[in-house]
Amino acid sequence: MDTGTGVKTDPTLPIAQSMKAWVLGNPGELKLAEKPVPAPKRAEVLVRIDAVAICATDLEIIDHGSPALIGGGMPFNKNFTPGHEYMGTVVALGPGVDEYRIGQRVTVEIHAGCGQCKRCRQGMYTSCLNYGLNYGDVDKGHRANGFTTDGGFCEYQVNNINTLVAIPDSMSDEEATLVVTAGTAMYGLTELGGLVAGESVVVTGPGPIGLLGVAVAKALGASPVILTGTRDNRLKIGHELGADHVVNVRNENAVEAVRRLNGGKGVDYVLECSGAPSAVNDAIRMVGRGGKVCLAAFPHEETPVDVAHIVRNNIYLYGIRGEGRSATHRAEALMSQKRFDAAKIHTHTFALDDLPTAIRYAKERIDDAIKVVVKAKGVAAHRLAAE
Ligand SMILES: [Zn+2]
Ligand SMILES: [Zn+2]
Repeated sequence: MDTGTGVKTDPTLPIAQSMKAWVLGNPGELKLAEKPVPAPKRAEVLVRIDAVAICATDLEIIDHGSPALIGGGMPFNKNFTPGHEYMGTVVALGPGVDEYRIGQRVTVEIHAGCGQCKRCRQGMYTSCLNYGLNYGDVDKGHRANGFTTDGGFCEYQVNNINTLVAIPDSMSDEEATLVVTAGTAMYGLTELGGLVAGESVVVTGPGPIGLLGVAVAKALGASPVILTGTRDNRLKIGHELGADHVVNVRNENAVEAVRRLNGGKGVDYVLECSGAPSAVNDAIRMVGRGGKVCLAAFPHEETPVDVAHIVRNNIYLYGIRGEGRSATHRAEALMSQKRFDAAKIHTHTFALDDLPTAIRYAKERIDDAIKVVVKAKGVAAHRLAAE
């Protein structure tokens, strides 16, 4: 690392000049390269990356580019390092930083807003109006590591202190990578939705956000919590994470099942994580009048929606692209208090050098993979039971 003035380091955690980093070439092509270790600026720290989880959005970015936006365009052949669900150890402090200490374990959230637009001023930094404007003479200071700036498939990364979440020693590296996933579900349900104890929640789609959405809803006292999906092994994990009822939509009509399980009534919330073509129309029929539907999946196709049903029934429909309003801190609090065991969705760990294998496991769901983690410190590939 090229230490500028005011950067603090510690001899017990020496930092090399260069690091291994995966960079995106053409679509679908990742290459292992050497990059200089970046130096933290004001309000930033340097994180040594100890573990990084692969997200469906990473697969999307690597193959199709969007939603990453580098230098105002597609991320291919721009020396860009993807990866955004990482955790690690603080190894250098930028000028004036005293909020964190060297040696502290942290996990990260993705977005550091510009801090000066209307949305950032409202605390909605993940909806920053200057999204992706972080280059050349339009640098507004917006950062979203792994989306608009370099991410975590490497050995070190700089992070704004607002994106850090301190974690206890009792939390494993792998579990810590899942805080941002739990924080995403939490943001949709509580910060944007207003969920309080006793309200009813349906989660459609048992992917990582859906499964941790079940866990968060249950931990906050929602009742009942109902999970719908097509894979029995994932529905079983949802049950273990707190779902009162699970519905395999291959065996029964999801809308009818939800109403039956909720005493004949619609529920208060649906967290839609399936991206299925019928998902929105199903969700608006699962909620009761005045209910809320949070959309957290990215479907590839445009789908027709029964707008008249939404209007007649005063239904609220809103999208989330990730975490926000520091929901990650509240998710971390539930996890460190052992209110649920997020590690149940972590299934595989590979070495950072084996990233292409790890990606293949995540993409093809080999061996029932759910969350696949890569670790920089040369761990051997092994499977951990997802109980
Ligand atoms: Zn993600
Ligand atoms: Zn902003």
